[in-house]
Amino acid sequence: MLICTFNPLHRSKGEVMPNVEIHGMGKREEANQLADKIFQLFADKPYVDEMVVTIFDTFVRDKEGDSQPFLRLANSCQDHTTEIIQKLRRLGLDVEHVQLQAFYPKQTIIAVSVNELNKFGCPHCGYRSGAMPVSGGGSGVWQCGECGKTCCVLAEGVVKSTIGFNGEYPELQSHPRRGTPAHGRPDNKPDSGGEFFRSRGIGLDDCSCFVCGTKGHPMLHNIAAFVQCKEAGERVVTMIGQGAVLDYREYEPDRVQVKVGACDAHYANLEELDRLVSSGTISTNVVKMARDFSLTPSK
Ligand SMILES: [Zn+2]
Ligand SMILES: [Zn+2]
Repeated sequence: MLICTFNPLHRSKGEVMPNVEIHGMGKREEANQLADKIFQLFADKPYVDEMVVTIFDTFVRDKEGDSQPFLRLANSCQDHTTEIIQKLRRLGLDVEHVQLQAFYPKQTIIAVSVNELNKFGCPHCGYRSGAMPVSGGGSGVWQCGECGKTCCVLAEGVVKSTIGFNGEYPELQSHPRRGTPAHGRPDNKPDSGGEFFRSRGIGLDDCSCFVCGTKGHPMLHNIAAFVQCKEAGERVVTMIGQGAVLDYREYEPDRVQVKVGACDAHYANLEELDRLVSSGTISTNVVKMARDFSLTPSK
């Protein structure tokens, strides 16, 4: 079995998860104030982050009809119980301590089917593109290209991951965003105008020159740049015109590139274009400046 260890958010086994219940406070406001006091009592304890307070909207009365609110502690792991009860007793209320039969923490890694991942995207943010650095046995580790969070993806029919995440083998669950279609990169434009155009530098490709229109035999110098999305890429190709092509792949809808070529004679123009787009944006003016660029200034 494969073991993945790159989820730092995983709660280590055996940590306390004390649940303090407030019963019979009658008024929600007072119950909330009491909850704040409870958290203050434990402010200096490391387990305060694991702690929850449950407010029961109840009225507890005795035979005379007088209110008898109380606290109840359910501590999933029995650590620190004596200390917790001692502290709670300072609040001047009765404290019940119930013995839990068992506690089943929710999965720290979400496991969804590959079908639902395709339909609804990242279980955390709904983004459709990501990478699968580890896979095997009908299970995979998927990392979102937008929020960077990880989930487990299971092939159809697989109900439990064969890949371990810090010792946990996530089981199939329904997609948390079921019903909301996955989304790609939004068609944003830079505030400064133009379009996003993140150059990956100058390489070689089968293309034509953006200055003179020469076609490669077979390769010309070329800039490949990431653009925001397919629509933005189409606008950039129109903006540049001659020598620019869209590189869009169905299976990578959020890694859209525009490629711009240059022949040997116009290599300096391509270098100038690369320099002018170093801020990550391109505009009609930038394209014109690069096209008009000349090493030997004209008179
Ligand atoms: Zn995400
Ligand atoms: Zn040329």
